[in-house]
Amino acid sequence: MLQKRSNYFSIIFLALIAFAGFTSGEVIEGKSGEIIIIPSLSNNHQDKFVIKQDSKIFQLVSLPFVKNDLLITRHDVDVRVKQVNFGESRITIADTSKVNLSKTDQMRANKEAILIKQALSTSTNKITPSFQFISPVPGAVTSPFGKQRFINGQPRSAHLALDLAGSEGTPIKAPLKGMVVLVGDFFYTGHTVILDHGYGLFSSYSHMSETKVKVGDFVEQSSLIGLVGSTGRVTGPHLHWTVYFDGNKVNPESLVKESYLPTLLKIAINKT
Ligand SMILES: [Zn+2]
Repeated sequence: MLQKRSNYFSIIFLALIAFAGFTSGEVIEGKSGEIIIIPSLSNNHQDKFVIKQDSKIFQLVSLPFVKNDLLITRHDVDVRVKQVNFGESRITIADTSKVNLSKTDQMRANKEAILIKQALSTSTNKITPSFQFISPVPGAVTSPFGKQRFINGQPRSAHLALDLAGSEGTPIKAPLKGMVVLVGDFFYTGHTVILDHGYGLFSSYSHMSETKVKVGDFVEQSSLIGLVGSTGRVTGPHLHWTVYFDGNKVNPESLVKESYLPTLLKIAINKT
């Protein structure tokens, strides 16, 4: 499976070269929840993550999760986002107060949603993300990105994160260097850490038994940030890992791969 995905990114890399012949008006295709490379049609690259290839400029953009194929425009480029069938999962949460929230819990959850949104609203340009992610825990994928969820029989929003297996207390490592921008104990996600990796790339870690960092800390790749747990709304211990880029939640599984490195070594950021 990983090999298959590696090939997929090699294709994207080749596509980057193929884009040298790109003309405005052509529609580019990408998969639901993936990061893709598009030619930059704008002259203003300030604060944007751009790649220079010969005399062409490209940029990395994220595609939203879609349930049906959708034609969108990203930075003036038309992109057809292809739907992917990620399957479905049905879970039962015995504690119904975690499903049908009391007024107090609902208010708490709303407040926490605002805190999370604020943490994701501004990203540092002092860190240049390498996009060479490592897996934060060694465990297998127990729930992939994009799975349609049903909780106690009720349809809920799709699972726009990756669940990785891990027993209580398993160390969680920063998959990429970053700045800690939020640490909290939240209603849904339990003990949570959010990292800012720079240029609009963020990642979050939920349901920890314990967090090991504080807001403002700078963490190197592989640094310990917390321990796997089962805090918040969960059915058992695991790591719920979310990656945000360019305003969308993207598939973390696609980012953990060796073949992504040669592509991203070519990335240059134009700060002027
Ligand atoms: Zn999850």
